[in-house]
Amino acid sequence: MFPYRPMCTILVMRLSGTGWRGVRAIVMGAGIGGLAAALSLRRAGHEVTLVERAPRFTEVGAGVQLAPNATRVLRGLGLLDEVAARAVRPSHMSFRTWSDGSEVCRYLLGRAAEEEFGAPYLLLHRADLHGVLAASVPAGSVRLDTTVVGMGQDDRTAWVTTAGGERLTADLVVVADGIRSAARRWLFGADEALFSGTAAYRALLPAGEVADLELPELAVWMGPGRHFVHYRVRRGELLNTVAVFTAGAAPESWTARAEPGAQLREFAGWDPRVLRVLERAGQVFRHGIHARAPLARWNVGRVTLLGDSAHAMVPFLAQGAAQALMDAAVLGDVLGDATPAEVPGALDRYVRRRLATATDVQAGAARAGEDFHLPDGPGARARNARMAAYAAEHGFMPQAAAWAPDTGDRAAGPGPPSGGSHPRPPAPD
Ligand SMILES: Cc1cc2nc3c(=O)[nH]c(=O)nc-3n(C[C@H](O)[C@H](O)[C@H](O)COP(=O)(O)OP(=O)(O)OC[C@H]3O[C@@H](n4cnc5c(N)ncnc54)[C@H](O)[C@@H]3O)c2cc1C
Repeated sequence: MFPYRPMCTILVMRLSGTGWRGVRAIVMGAGIGGLAAALSLRRAGHEVTLVERAPRFTEVGAGVQLAPNATRVLRGLGLLDEVAARAVRPSHMSFRTWSDGSEVCRYLLGRAAEEEFGAPYLLLHRADLHGVLAASVPAGSVRLDTTVVGMGQDDRTAWVTTAGGERLTADLVVVADGIRSAARRWLFGADEALFSGTAAYRALLPAGEVADLELPELAVWMGPGRHFVHYRVRRGELLNTVAVFTAGAAPESWTARAEPGAQLREFAGWDPRVLRVLERAGQVFRHGIHARAPLARWNVGRVTLLGDSAHAMVPFLAQGAAQALMDAAVLGDVLGDATPAEVPGALDRYVRRRLATATDVQAGAARAGEDFHLPDGPGARARNARMAAYAAEHGFMPQAAAWAPDTGDRAAGPGPPSGGSHPRPPAPD
């Protein structure tokens, strides 16, 4: 998937007058998506400046599940071994009933998934994943503490302007500024992150504190209007918990603290093992879950969205970061040996390969949430029977269809983008 050329080959191509000089890219945002995009473009031989508003690389204290579609990208970046050394490889995912903990079904992961999908299913602390990605981007390519406040383009170049008053110019701008993307608004007009009607309590606790509960490595407990996910991260040292519940409005914040005891009240009546975990969690965060409406296109001329700025989704399939990683891989692929003049056409190909898939996963994630939260009764019983039958027949979960590599073009929705005749994004400068 990666058009990787050793640096010496790139140099020979440049010196031997093939005319290929590579593309200069600016990547806006150094989250998982932006970092992976920068690495993927560098491996394709392009020059990258990564611009991040935070004064240093940071990630929140939370877990992330990486399905084989994500870990395949990490392998392509040459980072899978390093990431896997910090991860947990669960043998299966257990789905359970909220009230008595009985197992509805277990879907295969572990070696079976690795053999079937060609890459492992990993559980990680987000900071461990982010740290490996960040350490792989040369310091000279990174501009920290630099907030992008505007962007523009003409027929030959694209640029961003910074809060410090600089204009950085390149052949390509990749927008990876996350769910609250400002650049998405500059490109496509006002459109806010949409509240999903759910919020989550998140916590990380030493795994030893819950050892007596003999919890499965990775489990989803389903109940009326709520579900609870837990898994171990950092080589098994920590337990990551996410307790999702139906809520009124809640801010999309990774740092807002929960009121003491709130998650225990919210999950009153649940299986005692769930309650034991909730009561032992020390620092608990409260996070309103938001998503973005799908777009008909992500690119305008020499500028494209990537990751959550393009397709932020509810986290119920654990696929947001995975889809961002896939965006990055495909972006590097379509830009392979592109020249600066070929950037708009290459971005069209990127969007044709990624948009329909990411949009399907967004919709699937929303449906998964509805399914997890069914009230007790015939609907929940039918769901449980369906899941058990599927696990017995296939072993893997139905969502595993999304773990395939993105290799071919797919229709990109109404108004397919075309090279050349794009409206230009507003250039506030
Ligand atoms: C509760 C929860 C659980 C999740 N679990 C999973 C999971 O298990 N598996 C999975 O695959 N996904 C999961 N996700 C989704 C995943 O976290 C996101 O999809 C992913 O982190 C998005 O990465 P990103 O790089 O697109 O955006 P972000 O990580 O949001 O990065 C955006 C970056 O842009 C920077 N930035 C913003 N504006 C500017 C500016 N103007 N100038 C310069 N820099 C700027 C920000 O500082 C930030 O560093 C989960 C999400 C949630 C909410």
